[in-house]
Amino acid sequence: MRVVVTGGAGFIGSHLCERLITRGDEVVCVDDFSSGRKENVADLLDSPRFELIAEDVAERISVSGPFDAIAHLASPASPPDYLKRPLDTLAVNSRGTENALRLAHAHGARFVLASTSEVYGDPLVHPQHESYWGNVNPIGPRSVYDEAKRYAEAVTFAYRRTLGVNTGVMRIFNTYGPRMRADDGRVVSSFLVQALCGEPLTVYGDGLQTRSFCYVDDLVTGIVAMLDSDECGPVNFGNPAERTVADLAHLVAELSGTAHEVEFHPLPQDDPMQRRPDISQARELFGWDPVFDIEEGLRRTSEWFASRPGEVGAAVAGLRGGQLGERGERPPIADAQTAEAA
Ligand code: UDP
Repeated sequence: MRVVVTGGAGFIGSHLCERLITRGDEVVCVDDFSSGRKENVADLLDSPRFELIAEDVAERISVSGPFDAIAHLASPASPPDYLKRPLDTLAVNSRGTENALRLAHAHGARFVLASTSEVYGDPLVHPQHESYWGNVNPIGPRSVYDEAKRYAEAVTFAYRRTLGVNTGVMRIFNTYGPRMRADDGRVVSSFLVQALCGEPLTVYGDGLQTRSFCYVDDLVTGIVAMLDSDECGPVNFGNPAERTVADLAHLVAELSGTAHEVEFHPLPQDDPMQRRPDISQARELFGWDPVFDIEEGLRRTSEWFASRPGEVGAAVAGLRGGQLGERGERPPIADAQTAEAA
């Protein structure tokens, strides 16, 4: 196959490009490097089957020649990233998704959207099955990501129904692994980086909120299965092993072999209290099941960060207080409106 991967130089996108090249496909990676990094695909640049296009897919996608599928991953994805760039996040998931769908339509190609568990918002149904419609604050700070992805799903289904495009929607739950940015502010990267530097682990809220963490190799197996199929989805992909953020802090501390202080910070607005995928559909449709347990996944990810002391050292200071300014203590809506009016 010849596959276009938007966001192909990002954390997940670069692993997908690598997997596709390894199995013999041709890959066109499109990325504007706003949150992705060229070094993520540096090892692929020598391959004659790999092409890199530096472009913001919200503006245009100038792939030439025929291709078989688009995996549309381009978007800021860590909460601090999308809270810093709210308008870009809305643009890439709305205009960017439409550009990618138009291109898939013109080429008769398969289109797979990387959607997210964020479409479930702060879920009132647990675990989350694809049939659940979610509980999303449409005007909260996270809405720039949540609602943009919900629009991306809507427009994907509209292209399928109206124009017959072969589309698939996958809902990706928290994923971690090598090539996450040390400073991206997600909980796994932050804890691992803090542990490596002997810094306190920053737990938001009381740490009793839950997440279910999937190792990136498992997720990529799911993306490839979705690309190779004609399934429309939505299909959840994630590791159903659920744990609290406090548990994760203990695990990371154990892995590092030293005692670690935990520092409590305010819970960001609209931070979901629980999240666990029901993956019965992915199991039935693709026989897909995660194989990496969290200990092995964290060990591999920690080794990767340990091999980048410069990046880790630079990130750790920012993680201490900086992220909280972006995602922590936000004024209640009434105050925010007053502030805007003023
Ligand atoms: N979190 C935390 N400390 C951190 C970063 C995040 O306790 O340094 C919490 C965050 O409030 C959320 C969970 O960890 O409850 C997962 O956050 P992340 O940003 O990784 O992803 P999310 O699932 O919120 O998109």
